[in-house]
Amino acid sequence: MATPSPPIVGLLIEAAIITPGQLEHATRIQEKLSSFQPLLKILKELDYVSDKEVKSTIQAAAHSIRIGDLLTELGYISPDDLDAACRLQQESEPKDKLGTILVKHNFINEQLLMKVLSIQMGFPLVEPSLASLDRQLCRKVPQKLMKSHCFLPIHKEEDGSVKVAFGDPLDQEAIEIARRFLGGKITPAIAQRELVAKTVDLLIDKLSHRAMAVDTKTTVGTVNTIILAAIANNASDIHIEPLPDRLQVRFREDGVLSLYKDFPIELAPSISSRIKVLCEADIAERRRHQGGRILFSHDQGELDLRVSIYITVHGEKIVMRLLNRKQELFDIQSIGLSPRMLSRFLEEAVYQPSGVLLVTGPTGSGKTSTIYSCIHNLKSPQVSIITAEEPVEYVIEGIAQCSIDPKINLTFEETLRHIVRQDPDIIVIGEIRDTYSAEVAVQAALTGHKVLSTFHTEDSIGGLVRLLHMNIAPFLVSSTVVSVLAQRLLRRVCPACATPVQPSPIQLQRLRCTPAELVGAKFQKGRGCSHCKQTGYKGRIGVFELLVLDEMVRTAILEQRTSHEIRQISTQHSGLITLLEDGLVKAAAGMTTLDEVLRCLPLLQPTRPLAELRRLSGY
Ligand SMILES: [Zn+2]
Repeated sequence: MATPSPPIVGLLIEAAIITPGQLEHATRIQEKLSSFQPLLKILKELDYVSDKEVKSTIQAAAHSIRIGDLLTELGYISPDDLDAACRLQQESEPKDKLGTILVKHNFINEQLLMKVLSIQMGFPLVEPSLASLDRQLCRKVPQKLMKSHCFLPIHKEEDGSVKVAFGDPLDQEAIEIARRFLGGKITPAIAQRELVAKTVDLLIDKLSHRAMAVDTKTTVGTVNTIILAAIANNASDIHIEPLPDRLQVRFREDGVLSLYKDFPIELAPSISSRIKVLCEADIAERRRHQGGRILFSHDQGELDLRVSIYITVHGEKIVMRLLNRKQELFDIQSIGLSPRMLSRFLEEAVYQPSGVLLVTGPTGSGKTSTIYSCIHNLKSPQVSIITAEEPVEYVIEGIAQCSIDPKINLTFEETLRHIVRQDPDIIVIGEIRDTYSAEVAVQAALTGHKVLSTFHTEDSIGGLVRLLHMNIAPFLVSSTVVSVLAQRLLRRVCPACATPVQPSPIQLQRLRCTPAELVGAKFQKGRGCSHCKQTGYKGRIGVFELLVLDEMVRTAILEQRTSHEIRQISTQHSGLITLLEDGLVKAAAGMTTLDEVLRCLPLLQPTRPLAELRRLSGY
């Protein structure tokens, strides 16, 4: 039976790339072969045509070749497969595209379909994501049509055409629609159907969020917009504060507050009512402090917000703390401990079989993250780890975390009473805040447990002293506490705009340093650029002071020495590097600035020369 030439071969003849004689030769070979080989493959093997010529021929006539023929001619499916797929297509109701059928029935996978369509036909392969879209363009096309025809405008190309991702770039109707709404010239690209569909859904969701927010009459939209913006900025807290003439909204980013937006003060009551509804507080109550929790669902998942409503002279100030934020990697190697401090912390504290490990610092100093990275480092199928946290900030697989919730009478006291009965190896107590929790920690350590907890003190020695002031006997403190790690988070110099700087005389004076003591320092400062929103800083770095309770320190505690004396003993004999010194070493390495060091760290005693500190830190 004489069959007409397959489409690509026909085109090659038409374009005079191959001659009828060559085609005849190839056809004769094909007939002699025991298994089916596509003509195109044979033509290529005979060197009558090159890949490049095939590609450009297909591209020139992209829209006129059916996908099934293309796949067969290129040898990805057999003619029998194609027949079977065509029959399935006939039977399908509603009628599916052939490509869809081929993928659905596992003749080919979608990746191959994409590859064939993209590489062979010259459509660029794209992976649309919400962030990569030009929203302005997206608004031009009715959302219903993008959804039904599975396409998405991506952005304007340099030549003025609009790049459009199609689930099926051969769908003439979709191309026509895209052309009609996007102003004529489009550059079709190909993307996985499912990905386009998913992104269209997200986009529709986003645009409707936007529409709500623009209408300031809907408080729901305004509150959603504020929370979404905070998430987008990776803020840790949202402050909504009534002032005499306006409602100020600020975000805490990298530890520093910055203005997000001002709203008319008239909106204050409705915004606070909306937040109260969300966090299940009393809406009618406007004269008392309140608190609550919000579980906020958004594109990328769910977010836990802890809400505090505080009554000020101008009205209710609302602070929302964003809890399970973008998951950080809790890797103890990368929290910023200097090499020598890290190995001491691991060997002499974390890996000790029992005892109390304390992490101290003010709110927002990264204590919790450090505790989490310890847990992460310690967890294994052989140990049982149990926590009492208020609240659980990050969920870690494989450990038993309890979120304290006094509202339902799940109090700290009650939880701690039960915790030791759970046969744990390691106990994490969110915070030691009273004599009772201190006693639980010490008792648990005495009975052979490892206890991790945080404390609210300025520095490491302060942590010890505070325990002693909680009526814990000195011999108990000295025999159970293994280490106290004090910490702060300093802003990191933006790498994109960092420039070398010299310390000013005032800075030197405040540090009580001479230029000679800082030989070898490479201080840096960010000039401010688009990467860091002109602040000169991007991200944060931990600064630490590690007190390990060795014999000298234990004796000092038993002898009830003053904190000043304990500090001297620790720095002189136990290798303690103070927060200020660790900060100085990091500033001298250009990681943070002297401004940050002076702003955030306690200036308790003069620092040692940089060279000595570097040696002690192992840098
Ligand atoms: Zn910058």
